[in-house]
Amino acid sequence: MYVEVVLPLPLRHGFYYRCPPALCNRIQSGQRVLVPFQNRKLTGFVVETRLELPPEFSPTSALKEIILILDEETLISPGLFKLSKWISDYYFAPLGEVLKAALPPTLHKGQSKYSPIKTQLTVSLQSDCQQVLQKKKLTAKQLSVVQLLEKAAQPVLLSDFLVRSGVSAATLRSLEKKGIVRISNERVIRDPLGSCVGDAPVSRLEPTVEQRVALGELIRLLEQRSYTPVLLHGVTGSGKTEIYLNLIETLLAQQQDSLVLMPEIGLTPRVAREFRARLGRTVAILHSALGAGERYDEWWRIRRGEAKVVIGTRSAIFAPLPNLRLIVVDEEHDDSYKQQESPRYNARDLALVRGRMAGALVILGSATPAIESFYHARNGKYQYLRLASRVQDRPMPKIRLIDMRTEFASTGRSVVSSELETAIRERLARKEQILILLNRRGYSACMLCRSCGQNIQCRNCSIPLAYHKSRNRLLCHYCGYQQKIPNKCPSCNSEYLYFLGEGTEKIEALLTEKFPGVRLSRLDRDTAQRKNARSQILSNFQRHEVDILVGTQMISKGHDFPNVTLVGILSADNSLAFPDFRSAERTFHLLTQMSGRAGRGDLPGEVLIQTFFPEHYCLKYVLQHDYEGFYEKEARFRRFMHYPPFSGLAVVQSRDKSLDVAAQAINHAAKLLRSVVSDETRILGPTLAPLARIKSEHRFQIIIKSENRNHLNTILKGYLAEAERLGIDMRKVHIDVDPVTLM
Ligand code: ADP
Ligand code: ZN
Ligand code: ZN
Repeated sequence: MYVEVVLPLPLRHGFYYRCPPALCNRIQSGQRVLVPFQNRKLTGFVVETRLELPPEFSPTSALKEIILILDEETLISPGLFKLSKWISDYYFAPLGEVLKAALPPTLHKGQSKYSPIKTQLTVSLQSDCQQVLQKKKLTAKQLSVVQLLEKAAQPVLLSDFLVRSGVSAATLRSLEKKGIVRISNERVIRDPLGSCVGDAPVSRLEPTVEQRVALGELIRLLEQRSYTPVLLHGVTGSGKTEIYLNLIETLLAQQQDSLVLMPEIGLTPRVAREFRARLGRTVAILHSALGAGERYDEWWRIRRGEAKVVIGTRSAIFAPLPNLRLIVVDEEHDDSYKQQESPRYNARDLALVRGRMAGALVILGSATPAIESFYHARNGKYQYLRLASRVQDRPMPKIRLIDMRTEFASTGRSVVSSELETAIRERLARKEQILILLNRRGYSACMLCRSCGQNIQCRNCSIPLAYHKSRNRLLCHYCGYQQKIPNKCPSCNSEYLYFLGEGTEKIEALLTEKFPGVRLSRLDRDTAQRKNARSQILSNFQRHEVDILVGTQMISKGHDFPNVTLVGILSADNSLAFPDFRSAERTFHLLTQMSGRAGRGDLPGEVLIQTFFPEHYCLKYVLQHDYEGFYEKEARFRRFMHYPPFSGLAVVQSRDKSLDVAAQAINHAAKLLRSVVSDETRILGPTLAPLARIKSEHRFQIIIKSENRNHLNTILKGYLAEAERLGIDMRKVHIDVDPVTLM
């Protein structure tokens, strides 16, 4: 018997092994096996078992044998295996890499054994300790241990107990000797939401009329038990979460599973908590910020059917739920659903693929749907449901543009306009809260030389270095390279260097100076670095221990702060000026989502947007809360320029430390692509990528556009086949199907 095995390596094909007779009746596709590979032992996945080798395959040497089957149960169910193959095929990602991405990290490291649940030392009272306690010859310390343990319902983690009680291990050991305390190895499930277990269950909300209508329709679709894609287009604050919760409860009553994808759970811990508080332990959480142990345990709870609801970020699309009936993609427009390294899948799109395979209802939810999604809803490919107003008739926030050209002419200011300053002052006086968005971290965007006009660039990337004052360093936001602040220009030796372009760090300093005594906090990648720092900053703001929160787009995501009545957006221009075909769309999302943070409670909200370019159509539509208007305008541009959704898009990029090698690789790719191209497809380039050098690698790219996605796939397949035939080293070449940026 022969077995095809894929390895977690950037190789696009599998390898054949012989299966030793003793293993033949146990081996199945989807299992992990240990195999010899180039003098190493690697963990691979069984793709297929067969009695004879395929006729076109002629081994050059004797086939090696599988060493070991690592899993008695298959880790990857047939359904997920099928999905993985689809991904491998569509995104041109090696199947081994896809399968690796489908499992929690500890499971693909190739341990030969695994334990579904870790055992850890725990401490509890002996069940018959009362008799011993009757005599009670205990010290005060020992007594306090007994009292603490009496309160605990179940064994407590030893390490936790020592930290929290402050008693020594010796005290515990002495109690163990007396037969009062039991220390043992117990199965402990690490729980990412541990701290909120036992929170009071939240009360259910009486649905609004709009919610009720949408819910009625969704339940009807759910009961059809067949694949149905739906775009749920609900303005910010329209109560989409409540609808998801109701649907999940309906399914739980039927013992059926639901999957909810979110862009970044670390940023919106509130929502995960809400789900847990309402639905209990049946909710599992999966995202990359969890510790490896937590992820592992959550994965097994899902796999064993103990958790029937999964909330997770993009990789949770692989959650091993057996009876999937509902997939929700919340904030479906968000770019973070797209993985930027191989396998370069988009979890939003995969939700539809998995939903089709499972016959599930798939809800794409957003206040600002992706242009692609709205297009499909328009064309009837998706059902369309609209929530046009906020719950409890709360008004949409009033949005105003501040023309910074006039501001600059009259006051010379270019950072915080006098209008915004006045508005902040008013809110502070009324004890209301304020969010200030600037989508750029650091103190200054770059350091410029007045003599020669050069800016100081990263050593490894073609990017200017940003100035971070608190660290007193120049820092690259792409590769992390940092250096001291130079006192002379590296190009011309001039001393006339100056900083340009404000970042969040500078705004924080500026506002502290303008509003002495105000409680101010900042949320960006710098302040959020420590574990739990983000949720700390957010919950301080939630509890109104902070008046003004300054931050990058991190503060724009799904937060619900009822006391925020003012949102200030310092510059709409940064993101509009970004040289990418999606920059207007991204700006529309960002500004609308950010505006949506204002006026979510009883008090009405106001939004002030500063710009040097108030005529831009994107701003006009944001101002009028006019998504459809924006869509029409943007769709015209996309159709004209042959961009998605009117055209399929792929990028082939070459990367190498040597400019020559990268150039050669892309020229070769261009030649091969042109040899297989068809009439409906256009090949643009090769050109230097807009980010021409990142992490010391030069980047060239080719853009492929095709009216027909099947053609696109066929051409890329033809290209790869040709490259393989010619024995071309493909490690320098990266293929991105449906890219979210062309940078
Ligand atoms: P969205 O995700 O659509 O922006 P949320 O789901 O965050 O909106 O809901 C906004 C707020 O409205 C939340 O504080 C939520 O608790 C509240 N809410 C939702 N539905 C109702 C309802 N039927 N009655 C009262 N409040 C509601
Ligand atoms: Zn200079
Ligand atoms: Zn760099």
